[in-house]
Amino acid sequence: MSNSTALVRRSYDPTAVAVIGPFQNKFVEVVRAANPADAPNDDNTSDLVVVRLTAKGNQALFELCHTHDQKEVWCFPSYEFVIHKDSITASQVKTGRPSYVNAILIASRGLPQRTRCTKNSRWVFAEDVRVPGYWGGACAGCKWRDGAASCSYADKNEAKYIPPSMVPAPRLAIEELED
Ligand SMILES: [Zn+2]
Repeated sequence: MSNSTALVRRSYDPTAVAVIGPFQNKFVEVVRAANPADAPNDDNTSDLVVVRLTAKGNQALFELCHTHDQKEVWCFPSYEFVIHKDSITASQVKTGRPSYVNAILIASRGLPQRTRCTKNSRWVFAEDVRVPGYWGGACAGCKWRDGAASCSYADKNEAKYIPPSMVPAPRLAIEELED
């Protein structure tokens, strides 16, 4: 485990984010412009923003979760994360591409690391954030472009991260059907 190198973040409740208002149908809500300290490993800080998943974005992310690991990590606490402005589009999310889904799960649920991943392209994610024991331990930036195996953090034998709490998965209509 690399908990000693993880930075501390405070979780938020995505079900309460942008329920109404201009971000209602957006995937993420911009919380603020990022400070260089928010992404100490990214050299290009001019367009960095701190974002949260919106209620609808978080629900959409759940609908794209098909594997056990995806559904499990979706239930982990959510944290703000740092991206280059407008680098995650609704069109990309709608493709349901597993590397996008997994990278967004990692970025929104994972632990930021102090040590720089030298393979993180930083096209999208400015931080080196990962969920130990999931997707080979790769950071979100490497997972986004399907480069998990070459991530600086890649570790296939790592124990699965145990989060401080879990949120329940949403009730699905199909589960409520009765005979
Ligand atoms: Zn990486």
